[in-house]
Amino acid sequence: MEPGPERRGTNPANHPQHSGAPPEAAGPCRRRRRRRLLGRGFLIALACLLLLNVAAAVRERGPAAVAAVGGGLSTGLSWLGDALPGANEVKVYRAGPVRWLANRIKGEVRIGLQVGHLDAAAQPDELESLRYSTGAHHAGLNEVDINAAVVEALAARMRARGAVVDVLPATIPPRYRADLVLSVHADSNLDGTRSGYKSAHYWPARNPNEAWLKVTVDRAVLIATGLADDDVNVSSNMLQYYAFNHRRFKHAVARGTPALLVELGYLSNATDRSWLQAPDDLAAALEVGVVTYLRSIGRVSQAW
Ligand SMILES: [Zn+2]
Repeated sequence: MEPGPERRGTNPANHPQHSGAPPEAAGPCRRRRRRRLLGRGFLIALACLLLLNVAAAVRERGPAAVAAVGGGLSTGLSWLGDALPGANEVKVYRAGPVRWLANRIKGEVRIGLQVGHLDAAAQPDELESLRYSTGAHHAGLNEVDINAAVVEALAARMRARGAVVDVLPATIPPRYRADLVLSVHADSNLDGTRSGYKSAHYWPARNPNEAWLKVTVDRAVLIATGLADDDVNVSSNMLQYYAFNHRRFKHAVARGTPALLVELGYLSNATDRSWLQAPDDLAAALEVGVVTYLRSIGRVSQAW
């Protein structure tokens, strides 16, 4: 603790006002009253917070969680927990007006779509080693072209809904912020039978929403395409993706922005290739995932 300036009001004897003119004598009293009121307000706020916390615990874990507190109280809290708006929903509750205000402050929905490997040669010095990371190639097909086609189709779909879309190359603008970022990639392997879709957010997750973004996008793509779930082949490069590594690199997505890398299939597999050569179909699947995500967190209306 720093040695502060003289402490005020602890000892009235130190205050010249007490021995001075009467109008000034009211100062410390008023200050004391104000302090008492503040203290009481703080205690009430603390009690409310505690009660809400316990009610939330009851809602999540059932009355048994606070049974130790006493039967009657636990029943009362259980009732309070059920009465809370959104009691039967898993999502975090936010009152309508608060959500509306938050969305107004954030403005338009902004989505960053990264074309994996695009303009890799232009990577800045901190990412110099990735200047030759030009993506997969197979039988005359280039990953970067497929990534670009999917991003273009998805951008058109999201813009048609009113979102602002930034199409990003391999180099992300420093601390890029948006409602979400998707980094679009495709894979290739010497084993032509290897097939499927996989995705990864940074590990450890940088914010609470990216895990949910992964769930919604994965579900949408796996359901729409019927592609195999290739989660077993998620690599450490995916989990430590440079463009999401805000601690190490300046040119990375801001920590609070949920970001997901998707590998949409293998160029080296015939089934996957038929999907990769139909970019708008993949974009439609990704769109379902993104829209589901934005709706479920209350960023857009159900009709958006
Ligand atoms: Zn790639």
